[in-house]
Amino acid sequence: MYDVIIIGGGPSGLTCALYCYRAGKKVLVLEKGMVGGQMTLTTKIENFPGIEKIDGVSLAMQMYEQVSALGVEFKFEEVVSCNLQDKIKVIKTNNSSYEAKSVYICTGASSRQLNAVGEKQFIGRGVSYCATCDGALFKNQDVAIVGGGNTSLEDCLYLSNLANKIYLIHRRDEFRGDDILVQRIKQLAMSGKIELVLSSEVVEVKGDNKVSEIVVKDKKTNNLKAIKVSAIFVAVGRKPDTEIFEGVEINENGYIKTNEKMQTNIQGVFAGGDVRNTQLRQIVTACSDGAVASASINEYLANLQ
Ligand code: NAP
Repeated sequence: MYDVIIIGGGPSGLTCALYCYRAGKKVLVLEKGMVGGQMTLTTKIENFPGIEKIDGVSLAMQMYEQVSALGVEFKFEEVVSCNLQDKIKVIKTNNSSYEAKSVYICTGASSRQLNAVGEKQFIGRGVSYCATCDGALFKNQDVAIVGGGNTSLEDCLYLSNLANKIYLIHRRDEFRGDDILVQRIKQLAMSGKIELVLSSEVVEVKGDNKVSEIVVKDKKTNNLKAIKVSAIFVAVGRKPDTEIFEGVEINENGYIKTNEKMQTNIQGVFAGGDVRNTQLRQIVTACSDGAVASASINEYLANLQ
């Protein structure tokens, strides 16, 4: 019997584990893939206080090593179902079943697709949702990136050191990402390394065995244009991973509803990080949620009859 099971080994889960363990709690972290969550897809993190510049995998490993060296238990298993309603929470994974007095859900979110014709067909053969994972496969080739948020802009900067030419395709005229990144992109656009394709959407991905061309629609004129590329990196946001948490209240966009103490609608069930309804989804805010959740979990456990 664990005091708390943390579902998700991203920065929020690792912070919650750190705080709960230091408060003397028996903690289990369940992670289906690699620790670190979305930050492992980022090559350059420049906004984590105290660290001028670090890549996502290194920061994730530092957080993981700090927590596991303390003695926090980790199991690299996928949660397939949960019974969260009762006082004792039961978490089933693809390998086993675990019980806990409380649960912290910090499963984050997974990549959203464009739903363009041919997109699914070419996943792994030129369609990618992770530029930092797959970018090196397309060295010196022409590639496209779709999106206007920080991820797409960072992907663009990362690929500018690898690819021959990058088409940055965004559905609006203005970017959502941070101005500092937008300015860097615009500088590279002046050099011709990046071509901005704005107010446009990708309607089709074409190829034979692998991607060779995308069809882009100008949303203002409805004109279609074919662009020859070897790869298309889709970075149009993420959708929260909540399907397995039956009974946990979500908002209209699918994010778990919590109060400022990270409590969900179910007693003993807490949520934080990218999976919850929050204004800002950053590494620091995910860590903050984890710390706040640990205080609420400790309070809940102290009052448990
Ligand atoms: P995001 O900020 O939600 O941006 C998604 C982008 O994709 C938006 O520009 C959106 O267009 C576009 N989009 C959404 N659905 C689309 C569709 N179906 N077709 C075409 N375009 C579509 O997502 P993100 O860039 O992954 O970032 C997620 C969060 O992580 C953000 O809070 C971001 O600031 C943060 N983040 C931070 C850093 C950093 O600070 N170093 C790095 C990466 C991510 P519209 O703009 O028109 O809505």
